[in-house]
Amino acid sequence: METLKRTKIKDLLATKPGIEVLAKGWVRTKRGNKQVKFIALNDGSTINNIQIVANAELFDEELFKKITTGASLSVRGKLVESVGSGQAVEIQATDIQVLGECDPMRFPLQKKDTTLEYLRSVAHMRLRTNTFGAVLRIRNQMAFAIHTFFNQKGFVYLHTPLITESDAEGAGDMFQVTTMDLKNIPLDKKGNVDFSKDFFGKKTSLTVSGQLEGELGATAVGEIYTFGPTFRAENSNTPRHLAEFWMIEPEMAFYDINDNMELAEEFVKFLVQWALDHCMDDLKFLNDKYDDGLIERMKSVLGIAFQKVTYTEAVEILEKAIADGVKFEYPVHWGTDFQSEHERYLVEKHFGKPVILIDFPKDIKAFYMKQNEDGRTVRGMDVLFPKIGEIIGGSEREASLEKLETRIEELGMSRKNLEWYIDTRRYGSVPHSGFGLGFERLLLFVTGMSNIRDVIPFPRTPKNAEF
Ligand code: ATP
Ligand code: MN
Repeated sequence: METLKRTKIKDLLATKPGIEVLAKGWVRTKRGNKQVKFIALNDGSTINNIQIVANAELFDEELFKKITTGASLSVRGKLVESVGSGQAVEIQATDIQVLGECDPMRFPLQKKDTTLEYLRSVAHMRLRTNTFGAVLRIRNQMAFAIHTFFNQKGFVYLHTPLITESDAEGAGDMFQVTTMDLKNIPLDKKGNVDFSKDFFGKKTSLTVSGQLEGELGATAVGEIYTFGPTFRAENSNTPRHLAEFWMIEPEMAFYDINDNMELAEEFVKFLVQWALDHCMDDLKFLNDKYDDGLIERMKSVLGIAFQKVTYTEAVEILEKAIADGVKFEYPVHWGTDFQSEHERYLVEKHFGKPVILIDFPKDIKAFYMKQNEDGRTVRGMDVLFPKIGEIIGGSEREASLEKLETRIEELGMSRKNLEWYIDTRRYGSVPHSGFGLGFERLLLFVTGMSNIRDVIPFPRTPKNAEF
């Protein structure tokens, strides 16, 4: 046989029938009778399978025994018009090679009804399912869309460090990084851990945010974004938190809070539109299987302006709701941080659209946020989305050296590892702003999945770092 190049199934399904083709992939299902077998083959290039029609006369009975769900095949044949497969074309097989057999008794994806929870326990294999194929393709498209968005705007992609000495950001509990022998930790004269003996000569951790370094970049090249892994040792087993997640953090010189809000809204709308434009097959699959409101919800955020509300106004709305009989698990009064139930009430029940919350009490926000004239609020902004709650957190940054230093002092923070950051305000300080979008929170919104563990290939959560 002359050599024939493999064509991906996505492309085959869009090819005119009548030619000789070579397809490779994994068996999803096999059915048929004595005369003819139908094999649904998938190679991950699309949610859709291509149907292989194998005339039993042409093949050995033993071959069909090896063609089980999960087995990998190389199939050569003629691409013909299909009547029954639900696709325009199918392959009339002339040659089938089993590349790798798959023992039906042991293959973990045999069971017809595989719950998402079960699939998490076989996360190394769940990528082979239609669901995770769809999630992975959407995840890939979203990453590409993010780079496209910022690239079109002339932002510089800045790589910020994952290992950091600064523990000052206060965004979450940190994972320590050390090469010290835990059974023999060096101590100083006072009996404290002697970090000078550690790899970096200092106490170091995995980063909870690239923002502080991002500000260094923005105050040098104007507009930057980071896009990388972020680590938080939060012991909160919620469907919205991971210990290792990906964050996108744009930081812009000369942007005030209004410019910041405008960018955030344009950004998420761009991403949702991109998903609708590039992932419709996968979205339809997820919409049908898990969340029949998915596509509609995605479209619903595009046409309208997000609702801007101050924290203080939001507290009044929530207090009124409580007075009217709405029950929340957590209390609300001025000065508390909202829980996801409060955020979702504002978005889903009260306004019926995404909300941008601004002007938070300074005590529940980080030290670097720009202080308002009132002396008690700061120019933070949280973007809240239906079904999820907070998807973006950001702020205009305090540009005044004096105010920043006073705030650091007020909070009793150690300046030791922060002097480099404060330099941005010492030398050519400018108004600037930025925000962080949790990549997996975005993916919850554009996949309709309800647990964040199901939108990242290999989730890390308390007591779980398997695979
Ligand atoms: P939350 O209040 O929802 O726990 P946060 O206020 O601690 O979030 P920020 O420090 O503002 O989060 O981080 C910016 C963004 O990163 C959040 O808006 C969210 O989208 C995402 N994010 C934060 N923590 C996590 C986490 N543990 N897992 C996944 N995404 C996260
Ligand atoms: Mn936040």
